[in-house]
Amino acid sequence: MGDRERNKKRLLELLQAAGTGNAYCADCGAADPDWASYKLGIFICLNCSGVHRNFPDISKVKSVRLDFWDDSIVEFMTHNGNLRVKAKYEARVPAFYYIPQANDCMVLKEQWIRAKYERQEFTADGKTISPPGNREGFLWKRGRDNAQFLKRRFVLLAREGLLKYYTKEEGKDPKAVISIKDLNATFQTEKIGNPHGLQITYRRDGHVRNLFVYHENGKEIVDWFNALRAARLQYLKMAFPELPESELVPLITRNYLKQGFMEKTGPKDAFELGQVFLGSNEQGYQVFEDLPKGIRGNRWKAGLTIVTPYRRFVFTCPSEKEQREWLESFREVLSSPLTPLNLLAVSTESDCSHR
Ligand code: ZN
Repeated sequence: MGDRERNKKRLLELLQAAGTGNAYCADCGAADPDWASYKLGIFICLNCSGVHRNFPDISKVKSVRLDFWDDSIVEFMTHNGNLRVKAKYEARVPAFYYIPQANDCMVLKEQWIRAKYERQEFTADGKTISPPGNREGFLWKRGRDNAQFLKRRFVLLAREGLLKYYTKEEGKDPKAVISIKDLNATFQTEKIGNPHGLQITYRRDGHVRNLFVYHENGKEIVDWFNALRAARLQYLKMAFPELPESELVPLITRNYLKQGFMEKTGPKDAFELGQVFLGSNEQGYQVFEDLPKGIRGNRWKAGLTIVTPYRRFVFTCPSEKEQREWLESFREVLSSPLTPLNLLAVSTESDCSHR
């Protein structure tokens, strides 16, 4: 066996080696990474390798399968690897800081990678970073009645637990004062049509409302996101002082499991359903794969029925593929029992919104 073949074999073995963490991307956790940063000594997925490629000062990438690896680099990879390198660069990631997953958007991954290796924000000997606290600045916010984005000043008061925004620069009264208690923030780049698009959901006068914002600078928008998360964690710690931080962290912000359109059928009541609260199977929530007898969709044939202790909701989906995906998502949600804390945390989105 030539050197070339031998080294490739050693690398492939290294990817599977127990206790190295190499079987998952060092940056986003995607399974079976087949790229590597041979400057940092980590294995990463194709997506993350694209980010690394843009920062040659901190990282240099090679394909595990396609590129040539000489002895010294294979040796270097063997002595480093994902777990060891993470121990250095992720030594103290703040609890509020959002660590991106494989299916998260690029701006989150890029900023995470830059914060980790370029700015070295989380190394044990790095500068001490104070929690974000208050924050003020401009964001582009989608207008209410049209798709135009307007520049608006936003102010986050962490201690007070408030997010405000102003329509006029010199204006004294904020256009909205949003309580951190009822706030969720999640990147929705496709829906907003911007690679930095952030959706902020909150509640006012019993209605669920949304702000769609972005900033042209990726660091700015991710810093806003993490500042909102820091303020949320601070609020949750005050509201639930008896609970450990690890139980509060998953409640800081929530990603949507699945998003899309379904058509609601049934009696044309005066209220358009905006949101359906999903409890658990234990509480009598169930989802069925078909429509009740005698009910047909107006446009779409595939459908599903959600039964709650209070009423029944019938939805139709544009395709059978969509129907299957929705069913899967609903089953996943309904099969996980809710703790009282979950119930409190989701109560902000629990009932129907009127239009
Ligand atoms: Zn990755």
